[in-house]
Amino acid sequence: MALAFDEFGRPFIILKEQEQKTRLRGLDAQKANIASGKAVARILRTSLGPKGMDKMLQSPDGDVTITNDGATILEQMDVDNQIAKLMVELSRSQDYEIGDGTTGVVVMAGALLEQAEKLLERGIHPIRIAEGYEVASRIAFEHLERISINSNLVLQILSHCVNRCKRSLAEIAVKAVLAVADLERKDVNLDLIKVEGKVGGKLEDTELIYGIVVDKDMSHPQMPKQIEDAKIAILTCPFEPPKPKTKHKVDIDTVEKFQTLRQQQVQRCKDVGATLVICQWGFDDEANHLLMNRNLPAVRWVGGVELELIAIATGGRIVPRFQELTPEKLGSAGLVREKAFGTTKDRMIYIEHCANSRAVTIFIRGGNKMMIEETKRSIHDALCVARNLIRNNSIVYGGGSAEISCSIAVEAAADKYPGVEQYAIRGFADALDAIPMALAENSGLQPIETLSAVKSQQIKENNSCCGIDCNDVGTNDMREQNVFETLIGKQQQILLATQVVKMILKIDDVISPSDY
Ligand code: ADP
Ligand code: MG
Repeated sequence: MALAFDEFGRPFIILKEQEQKTRLRGLDAQKANIASGKAVARILRTSLGPKGMDKMLQSPDGDVTITNDGATILEQMDVDNQIAKLMVELSRSQDYEIGDGTTGVVVMAGALLEQAEKLLERGIHPIRIAEGYEVASRIAFEHLERISINSNLVLQILSHCVNRCKRSLAEIAVKAVLAVADLERKDVNLDLIKVEGKVGGKLEDTELIYGIVVDKDMSHPQMPKQIEDAKIAILTCPFEPPKPKTKHKVDIDTVEKFQTLRQQQVQRCKDVGATLVICQWGFDDEANHLLMNRNLPAVRWVGGVELELIAIATGGRIVPRFQELTPEKLGSAGLVREKAFGTTKDRMIYIEHCANSRAVTIFIRGGNKMMIEETKRSIHDALCVARNLIRNNSIVYGGGSAEISCSIAVEAAADKYPGVEQYAIRGFADALDAIPMALAENSGLQPIETLSAVKSQQIKENNSCCGIDCNDVGTNDMREQNVFETLIGKQQQILLATQVVKMILKIDDVISPSDY
């Protein structure tokens, strides 16, 4: 605060001289940044693995999310520290590229930062550390490729590889992906898999439907609830006279004309042979009544994306005008039925036995909304793993075994580097151990003892499949336990974590507006 006088001698007070900036430089900047990054990683550490804990997050408007998916936790955490944001971005990139391994990648980055902190304290220049990490990540990357195996038994593998997902859910995910996969092009369009959920029942009731489930009901309660060999008109136009646009003129001067127009529209649908109308728009009671009288069941207010899926599944065309409706444009489905849930008026439409079964729905049941949402996320991860395996069928073993094996390889390679980098390379090897340690800790095992036992076993038996027996199965051979991860997923984790850590290490000046 300062007192000043203007040109007429009148006093005034300057409250704030200028917006102050805070500034952190050199080692202080690196240390502060590392601390923020580690803080984020520490939060996710306990969520890693099959026995990982869940986090409960409340949004500003009171919505509660319970999850153990790294990307979701970070997404909802609403961090405002710059470095923490980088970690959020890191998890998001992994989600975007691979879809699974979003927790692991952040834990890995946190471990790399922790090691970097130790190295900085020993007086090693950040650039040396960054270079050492780069070398080490390349070694690990190549080592992963060496220990990976090709597997064509996608189905068999997958029933286990999907971490938290119950076995049946994993199977559903695999079946769904195989149903829509284009095995020739080795690609999967995940958009063709619709994931729908409804509160009620139990998780085990979750099912895969070879067709589409729409959260809507027949527009009139007296319409038939079941239609066999349905011919479906998929419309994006409402049952009403067209709205006059600037240049058109629709003369409707009598009630009769108004009625006839509607009748013509309904008649048109009947003429082309439709036995069911699915409409993007709503229609009023009169139209509804007319449809019911003419025995033409209808579903209204169906969303655009669903409409597209229905069109794909039934082999129909989306028709924007009644005039364009022709018999060829109708979709066909062996069975369309309306199913009621619970005691409420909750109903859903099932469109099954479609002409083209390459659009499926995973229909999740569960005790409450949060459970369904979390199951959706697990299924998403499982679908991504299955898709990645179809694209590239190389896998590495999970349960931390791949990380331990890489750690041994990186440690051994460090000796070949004469310079200071070797410390950074060893630091990288230690950081790799963080994943198995976290897995052990989360499963209630002694982290250091378990890790050293497994590591020495790997070296003694020259077996890269030894990992952490999280579920207490009795063997730590991940090959026997069938715990797998995709090679590209693991490689991506190492690449992304190294990149972000290098980026953080290279920041030596943080300039930010000060707090008021
Ligand atoms: P992410 O979001 O990184 O995928 P997860 O919570 O899915 O995190 O945990 C994945 C880790 O758990 C991987 O390292 C994986 O190998 C390991 N894992 C999953 N299932 C098992 C299991 N049954 N036994 C041991 N480790 C497992
Ligand atoms: Mg996972």
